[in-house]
Amino acid sequence: VTTIEIAAQSGGWVSAPRGSTIEVIDVEGQQVADVFAVSAADRSEHLSVRWTRAATGRLFPQVGQFFYSNRAERMLSFVEDRSPGPHDMLHASCDPLLYQLLGAGAAHPNCADNFRLAAGQVGWDPPDVPDPVNLFQNTPVLPSGAIDVRGAVSAPGDSVVLHAEMDLLLVVTACSVDLDPFINGSTCTGIRVVVHLPEAS
Ligand SMILES: [Zn+2]
Repeated sequence: VTTIEIAAQSGGWVSAPRGSTIEVIDVEGQQVADVFAVSAADRSEHLSVRWTRAATGRLFPQVGQFFYSNRAERMLSFVEDRSPGPHDMLHASCDPLLYQLLGAGAAHPNCADNFRLAAGQVGWDPPDVPDPVNLFQNTPVLPSGAIDVRGAVSAPGDSVVLHAEMDLLLVVTACSVDLDPFINGSTCTGIRVVVHLPEAS
């Protein structure tokens, strides 16, 4: 078992070989986790939410589905949701430009920079930051087509369980948004990731 603790407004990475089970835990509640994945064998193959939306015919993740790569391969499956959800597959990571536009300055901590820092440690340096799966992010689409940005409703200890369908490296960031709308509640907090390796065969 490998456990990584991702501090508030930071990121980290962990290896998840094929067959391993991954728990992403919202330690203190109401905290969005941006999840990125790349093939351990080929850094040009990564989790793609646009492929996943197309392959599943859904805007948001659902237990039982797969998450697909930019080559339409199964990378992860969604095994169990120990949170009330929802989760997001529509939003890019927060980045320096977003905080600049919001008046908080480009030096504000952000998921894009935190992704770059963690991904760089495993030799993953894509030209653009891939759009992540935003676990616990509560941003539903209304019947009008508008996206409503709300605070996460996950409670302390809530988690999502994923299964690695190929040898993966996961990068996870604890989202840095601490401005209105408060998607991470009133305070940004940390995320824990626990990887259970497959039983030796
Ligand atoms: Zn963020």
